[in-house]
Amino acid sequence: MARVLMLAYGGTIGMVPSPHGYVPAPGLGERLRRALQDTGAGAALPAFEVWEQPPIDSANLRPHHWQTMAQHLQAHWADYDGFVVLHGTDTMAWSAAALAFLLRGLDKPVILTGAQIPLGVARSDALSNVSAALMLAAQPELCEVALCFGRFLWRGCRARKVSAQRFDAFAAPNDAPLAELGIELVLHRQRLWRWPHGPRWTAPAFDDEAVAVLTLHPGVGAAAVRALTASERVRALLLLTYGAGNVPAQDTAFLDAIAAASAGGVVVVNATQCWHGAVDAGAYATGSALARLGVVPLADMTPEAAWAKLHVLLASGADTATIRAELVRNWCGELGANGTEAPPAA
Ligand code: ASP
Repeated sequence: MARVLMLAYGGTIGMVPSPHGYVPAPGLGERLRRALQDTGAGAALPAFEVWEQPPIDSANLRPHHWQTMAQHLQAHWADYDGFVVLHGTDTMAWSAAALAFLLRGLDKPVILTGAQIPLGVARSDALSNVSAALMLAAQPELCEVALCFGRFLWRGCRARKVSAQRFDAFAAPNDAPLAELGIELVLHRQRLWRWPHGPRWTAPAFDDEAVAVLTLHPGVGAAAVRALTASERVRALLLLTYGAGNVPAQDTAFLDAIAAASAGGVVVVNATQCWHGAVDAGAYATGSALARLGVVPLADMTPEAAWAKLHVLLASGADTATIRAELVRNWCGELGANGTEAPPAA
């Protein structure tokens, strides 16, 4: 019988009502165990142990939390067949991407899940999500960090929160599901990621403020770039550009501010703010202007994955040239057809 470690970090799944709305509450592991026993579902699920952190609303998550998550998973890796991470939905996609990068080359499943309605509240989706996550965490061929929610299992570094209301709260607009969770759990084995280079694990200390994000909007200008990169702690700027990677290239002050940030050592990257599709740096003159400045185009990487990968690379102490090269290497499926599949540097 497979043994699963469940790491509980908080989120709606374990929350209780308060005069100000839902708030985190301790004891989720025991409450889940009791609820699974009461329904009789527990017997059909893998045995699990729970490790609980003081629960948070994941809106309060910061990159430094990922160090604890990765350290705990790595420390207990040999003791279990798979792992379930209970997490708030608001930042689950960021954590799924970060864990996928921190556990590159993993050989067991790590499944993130949570709920839209707390455990114990009428129509809660907690037990169905957790039951599916436990079953998936016992699938030895699923060597990925993945996000299980509602009717689907998504690759962790491709997932985005798409609904504040629906039970299918997540999707991967540039990817297909890894599994469909209907009456049967149908795992798409041919889609599973294969990484032939062995584990490349890390659990570095993060600087929460190392990466800034600028979402392009009409009228955005040099002042926004300068303000976002003013702090010495900011070492990367993620531009969420229009369409195929376009910016207001007629605004030379805007381009100059990006060039100045880059010259000052800030790694500037280009991901599209579009839900679907990829940055194509040569498609428009308004996009190739960025490429000429040395801004790294991130193809169809999600903003969450781009942000997490920048954090992981910076925290790992990589130099600028390495960061730029690794960003466009496909570590765990974060890039689609446009990503290079070259093996990593030794
Ligand atoms: N605010 C909650 C959280 O992210 C939302 C949820 O879990 O659904 O922790």
